[in-house]
Amino acid sequence: MKKLLFLFGISTILFSCGSSQNKTATNSKKALEVTAYGNSITSAELKEALYTYASDEFEGRNTGDPGQKKAVEYLKNHYVSLGIPSALPNNDYFQEVPLQTLSTPAIDLLVNGKSFTNIEDYVSVISSPDGTFNAKEIIYVGYGIDDEKFSSYTNLDVKGKVVLFKAGEPKNSDGNYTISGTDETSKWSNLRQEFVAKREVAENKGAKAVLFYNPDAYSFVAKRFGGSHGRMSLVEPPKDLYYFIINTDLAKAIHSTIDTSDKTETLNSAIEFNYKNASNTFESENVVAIIKGSEKPEEYVVVSAHLDHEGIKDGEIYNGADDDGSGTVAMLEIAEAFQKAVENGQGPKRSIVFLHVTGEEKGLLGSKYYTDQDPIFPLANTVADLNIDMIGRTDPKREKTNRNYLYLIGSDKLSTELHNISEEMNTKYCNIDLDYTFNDDNDPNRFYYRSDHYNFAKNNIPVIFYFNGTHADYHKPSDTPDKIEYDLLENRTRLIFYTAWELANRKDRIKVDKAN
Ligand SMILES: [Zn+2]
Repeated sequence: MKKLLFLFGISTILFSCGSSQNKTATNSKKALEVTAYGNSITSAELKEALYTYASDEFEGRNTGDPGQKKAVEYLKNHYVSLGIPSALPNNDYFQEVPLQTLSTPAIDLLVNGKSFTNIEDYVSVISSPDGTFNAKEIIYVGYGIDDEKFSSYTNLDVKGKVVLFKAGEPKNSDGNYTISGTDETSKWSNLRQEFVAKREVAENKGAKAVLFYNPDAYSFVAKRFGGSHGRMSLVEPPKDLYYFIINTDLAKAIHSTIDTSDKTETLNSAIEFNYKNASNTFESENVVAIIKGSEKPEEYVVVSAHLDHEGIKDGEIYNGADDDGSGTVAMLEIAEAFQKAVENGQGPKRSIVFLHVTGEEKGLLGSKYYTDQDPIFPLANTVADLNIDMIGRTDPKREKTNRNYLYLIGSDKLSTELHNISEEMNTKYCNIDLDYTFNDDNDPNRFYYRSDHYNFAKNNIPVIFYFNGTHADYHKPSDTPDKIEYDLLENRTRLIFYTAWELANRKDRIKVDKAN
């Protein structure tokens, strides 16, 4: 990289040596074909950057850990050295992302004077304030639903009370679900939504503590929230609420016929507990740089990749060369190619935002913070997000043998135009076998929801997610830079560059014709 810039410098000096310096300097900036910039993305430079970025020195880049701090410094320095400005005021490339680790709180809990054991019998699933609480009664609300078609809370005041409900939803005598009127379940018993939907009802009605009896999910939840590794999340305002998922023993100690009854009733069960919060907060960083558009600077094309990985576990470094070192260095090369165009007077018409997000492995946290809490640039003016997560390897499970392929996900979901541009750029410049296997709405892997682009897509911003599929080293310490196929990485990076170039330079902003 440095070598190339040095050569550019020399040629400028040579050109400037004539008698009419200004004129010659202007002439030296003759417009180049876009391929002149695309070809500046090379496997050699990608390799050099990745051997640093995915080296042991970066300690697996775990969110919040020293290795992640080294990673963000490295990215910042790259943009500084290219002369690409920060997207944030004060020339600070870091968007601070406040995070918290929810560690298992210390809880003593008794029902009717009998002691129950934290994690074994119940598990706290939200961050609640320190305190003690006791009540002489518990309000059982059956399925805990409050819907137009059915409510467990009719004429019920649960303010300041302890509320107990169970998993599931009611059925009519014809066997159909009461809410949907068909054999389809609703959000009230769908695993993804039930935990939040039922809690929110009790919370909005002013309950002080909520007990959710869910025997099928208990072991899974206890493992997720009760393990020694704290779950990470964005810092949220603390709730004045306690929320415990409880097992069968505890549920039956409160209400012996809970499995067969869904009748709302006040139970004479005394409960007392003492709660000691063990979560801690810390800062992590997104790294954000921008090349301002020359004609439509208020329209933004975002290119994103996550900067974090899994860190060190059991003494082993998870280098994350493919995940997502490959996407990270691809972005650096794309940025450099655009910057060369800028230096030659051919900068993009729209702005290009280079967004390196943190906390992806912990639940898309950095991108969620950007879209939900602090979009540096208005989402309404964001044209598209091209998200790169794992593009340096091949998928051994892929049936076709052509190794020059790439999975594309999401390209046609919101904008037909985006999909067509992407195809066109590929045909024109790259000739990659674009594979849409995982773009199928019914694909069980649900990759569309599993990387940072989703936080843009949910805001009706068209996205393309570039992905090589998983492999034997996926999320293993063996995801190392020697296993990357650099010729493929080069070609795939170029495709993303050309697509971004077209999105930034075409006359009209792409249209969203399939908004949700
Ligand atoms: Zn990833």
